Amino acid sequence: MIEVENLEKAYGRVQALRGVSFQIGEGEIVGLLGPNGAGKTTIIKTLTGYLQPDNGQVMVDNLDVLTQTQDVQSRIGYLPENAPLYPELSVQTYLQMIAELRQIPPEQVQEWLSEAVQSTGLTDHLTRPIGQLSKGFRQRVGLAQAILHRPRLLILDEPTVGLDPTQIVEIRGLIRRLARNSTVLFSTHILPEVETLCDRVIILINGEIKVDARLSELAETSDAVLVLDGEVRGVEATLTELDGIGRVETTAPTNGRFTYHIQGAPGADLCPAIYQLASRQGWPLRELRPDRQTLETVFNEVAA
Ligand code: ATP
Repeated sequence: MIEVENLEKAYGRVQALRGVSFQIGEGEIVGLLGPNGAGKTTIIKTLTGYLQPDNGQVMVDNLDVLTQTQDVQSRIGYLPENAPLYPELSVQTYLQMIAELRQIPPEQVQEWLSEAVQSTGLTDHLTRPIGQLSKGFRQRVGLAQAILHRPRLLILDEPTVGLDPTQIVEIRGLIRRLARNSTVLFSTHILPEVETLCDRVIILINGEIKVDARLSELAETSDAVLVLDGEVRGVEATLTELDGIGRVETTAPTNGRFTYHIQGAPGADLCPAIYQLASRQGWPLRELRPDRQTLETVFNEVAA
């Protein structure tokens, strides 16, 4: 659905994108995660045809964004970071105006508009001026205009920025529902947003992709953590006698608990063998678990 190849963009002396390449397949829901200034909006504006890159190619649905911009824009639902809504217009009038701009066939407008309004939960707010709505509801209007023409690809720039916790939960639920029928790419700097919504994450730091992985791949690990309720001599040496064990690192004891981070050979499943060893040795076992990486640990590693 999206193919980006070696994208580069500078604003004067600021190099915002440094050779970014990725592909997104039909039906995926992908989070573009990065700190402020990483280049997320620059990628999104380039993908949606609102910004010319200095270099590189961007294809959407097999169309070249640079030369077939209007065709691409007609296939995309785009929620910019600050959606240009007209505060004096009612929700209904605004969406009717968007339907005209999107050249939705007049005989379909009513049906498509009600569907967009229903899926964004705006049915009871149709006659209210947009300027009188809360920020969360204005964001729903932004999403309604993005899905009105039934695009197969939704691109959302920081869709929950500035919302309160309740509104965030609502908008995330809405994005999840919209993702049932469309491919979704959204930018964010909020890690839990990626964890709760995405199959896949692209981490962008300083204009470069540092991680592009499925969340399930990130969690895979062959390492383990062992916690003992008290000091036992020779634990490291005994552990390293097991097959598939690499380095064993200990951290300073807390509250009389001793923690061992045990590195496993790729593909090893250490926990059952460690459990048996601990039982045989009579170690005061407190905790034994796979040492999974979280998105936070991965992000902190690449952002450091
Ligand atoms: P944020 O999360 O803060 O929105 P972002 O990841 O979306 O950040 P971009 O807005 O793409 O990042 O900006 C990338 C870099 O390009 C930043 O250093 C930013 O200051 C710079 N930049 C963006 N737009 C312009 C512009 N119009 N003129 C000059 N520099 C710009």
